Amino acid sequence: MLGGMQDFELRVPRLIEHAEREHGDREMLTRWADGSETVTTWGQVARDSRKLAQALERMGLQPGDRVATLAMNHSRHLVAWYGTIGMGGIVHTINPRLFPDQLAYIANHAEDRVLFYDRMFAPIVEKMKDQWTTIDHYFCFDSDGPDSFETLIAPETGDYAWVEGSERDPCMLCYTSGTTGNPKGVLYSHRSSMIHALAELQPSVFDLSARSVALPIVPMFHAVGWGMPFAAPAVGLKFVFSCVNEPKVLCDLMNREKVTHSAGVPTVWFAMFQHMDATGGAPKHLQVVTIGGSAAPRSMIERLMKMGIRVNHAWGMTETSPIGTIGAKSYDWDDLSFEQQVDQVCKQGRAPFGVEMRVIDDSGAEQPRDGESSGRLMVRGPWIIHQYFGEEAPCVDADGWFDTGDVAVIHPDNTMQITDRAKDVIKSGGEWISSVELENAAVGCPGVAEAAAIGVHHPRWEERPILLVIRKSGSDITADAIQAHLAQHVAKWWLPDEIHFVDDLPHTATGKLLKTAIRAKYKDFSLA
Ligand code: ADP
Repeated sequence: MLGGMQDFELRVPRLIEHAEREHGDREMLTRWADGSETVTTWGQVARDSRKLAQALERMGLQPGDRVATLAMNHSRHLVAWYGTIGMGGIVHTINPRLFPDQLAYIANHAEDRVLFYDRMFAPIVEKMKDQWTTIDHYFCFDSDGPDSFETLIAPETGDYAWVEGSERDPCMLCYTSGTTGNPKGVLYSHRSSMIHALAELQPSVFDLSARSVALPIVPMFHAVGWGMPFAAPAVGLKFVFSCVNEPKVLCDLMNREKVTHSAGVPTVWFAMFQHMDATGGAPKHLQVVTIGGSAAPRSMIERLMKMGIRVNHAWGMTETSPIGTIGAKSYDWDDLSFEQQVDQVCKQGRAPFGVEMRVIDDSGAEQPRDGESSGRLMVRGPWIIHQYFGEEAPCVDADGWFDTGDVAVIHPDNTMQITDRAKDVIKSGGEWISSVELENAAVGCPGVAEAAAIGVHHPRWEERPILLVIRKSGSDITADAIQAHLAQHVAKWWLPDEIHFVDDLPHTATGKLLKTAIRAKYKDFSLA
């Protein structure tokens, strides 16, 4: 016997249709790279998306074809998503900060047919065109000529019905940014994107509603813009987009538009703090800030919380759509001291409904949730990867668990804490030292702008940590002072054997420390 309710395939176009019908007049603002601004509405985005779907069909694209974007966050980028998905296509967001060989690899691997790009990335397009073997149509989002996005959709009527299909059809393709080897494609389905979007709206997740004004700093090309472009139309929130991520621009926009919600990796908040220190300005209306992508340091959490902002510390990855865990407040939050609240937010949060998690040891045995037993973090659920794009074999075990490659503990209150990435852990005399904790403690030290901890060869202990530090401009902090600071936060045997001051550290395309490059540089370095 079947249930007596309607079939309602969970297809992404229903989201934009809903926004058009129920929140059609709600505005959306874009500040373009040249400083100009445009305002559109959910209704107009829906109409433009239908026109784009028509244009793509006119060009001969079929359901299942890949349409790439090389773009920052703006309303036309959103139209490119919904128009492509609406005609049954698959959006492939390309990260413009990838290295040329990775750019060539992923567009060819995805067999992209069309590319929409921002004018600021035209030099990349020029350089890569010869190597991109499958793309035969290029359109610029923010220029006028015959190959512009606006010219493409202008002749269409918008009289278009979205392509129907199964909720299990693919709609979106994102490649992991490749901190580890060749990028791998994660192919999201309508269903996974829809369920993820609905979960994201909850108060205990992103806490989004029609009253929210959201400025996502996380780019739409980084892990589906953390799902916000799909979650937003379900509630009809107001988007404020910026094509440049300079803190002054962001801060001014946030204050003028009364932005309540924002999201971004720790690096962007560091930059915002520097702006605040230099100018005395600050975003005044922010209520919820989501930080993820790498661990949010305690000093950052504390500063934002003292501004009255709820800090939502989230863990996830491209393979998890990306919400894995998030810092939902515990039931006894109001009874906790400020310090205890900060302690809680420093951890990576709880699993929302839809994510199952566990930590296993090397033999595969599940570890107790005691806050001490660490091991590999495994997850499963309807928005977690099953197999990489183009690969036959699943990337999960027989019970559906995906090995995240992260090392974690789960506390008795069910909050998860990442202690490291499996390959970044420093193994000293058979014991593990968390590079993440060392780095977080180091950036809490006044005078330290950024820090990277890696293990280098040691004749007795196999590996010992060294710390690479970028000083804040104007600071002359010494290695001894940093060691003294660290000693207050980590065990004595974790203290780095050496501290090296550097001018620069390599980052991945999503702004994370590129540990593989740092380790490669210190490959032959040995502590006596
Ligand atoms: P890539 O794997 O290419 O770096 P992702 O954006 O998918 O790109 O990165 C996912 C990884 O980022 C996670 O596996 C984890 O190691 C790290 N990460 C994400 N969020 C956090 C967080 N809040 N704390 C610590 N690490 C995090």
